[in-house]
Amino acid sequence: MENFTQNGLNPAACAEQDGVGVHSPRRRQRLLQLLKTAGVLHSARLEQVLATVPRHFFVDPALAQRAYEDCALPIGFGQTISHPSTVARMTEWLYADAQQPMQNVLEIGTGSGYQTAILSALSQSVFSVERIAELSRQAQERLAQLKVENVTFYTADGHWGLPAEAPFDGILSAASPETVPPELLMQLRIGGRLVIPIGSSPQQLFGFIRHEQGIEQVALGNVSFVPMRKGVAS
Ligand code: SAH
Repeated sequence: MENFTQNGLNPAACAEQDGVGVHSPRRRQRLLQLLKTAGVLHSARLEQVLATVPRHFFVDPALAQRAYEDCALPIGFGQTISHPSTVARMTEWLYADAQQPMQNVLEIGTGSGYQTAILSALSQSVFSVERIAELSRQAQERLAQLKVENVTFYTADGHWGLPAEAPFDGILSAASPETVPPELLMQLRIGGRLVIPIGSSPQQLFGFIRHEQGIEQVALGNVSFVPMRKGVAS
């Protein structure tokens, strides 16, 4: 992904959210140094994207002082914004083979919209599915403020993928099902990649690559995610 152009992300609109202290780009840089030292961030292009997106903007102002620690934070409705190190690991694996921005990417579990913004910078089009309508609405508002224009949002159950927009170059799930939903594998194009946590305790991150001859599965280590729940929240 090193030679990708910026795509959906608008650096000037992102910079408008920056300020001093807990909102400063320097805090973000320090976190990225930590991720590099920990060996979870290798791509210079992804580093540039993570340096641009203001993570503090995606959490409640009362939690903003913790936005540049490598931790998950509550975003309401019992859900959390993912660890920055997990976002880096999943994104790097998803794009590991990509020579250019992916055409279309499906995200399951919009949550705060933070990972969505990262994907928007590395893809032509992003389709993001969330089962809690209010979280989706808040994420849409944030991304509109950051002038991200290549994302389409859906309130739906991500177990089923998004057949109308398939096949996908990449699918990233931020919610953990008990077993991999076959629909997601079926909605990958040949050469396409799915990255998804599976199981409950402990959860394991898996990567799947769809080849002509079948599916390749790669174990990517332990992670901590919220469960993938059935149906749309009422
Ligand atoms: N990437 C997000 C992570 C949010 S946590 C962020 O960094 O903010 C995972 C999200 O998955 C939660 O918002 C949860 O509501 C959502 N989710 C859980 N089960 C789902 C399902 N079946 N379909 C769509 N979204 C689901």
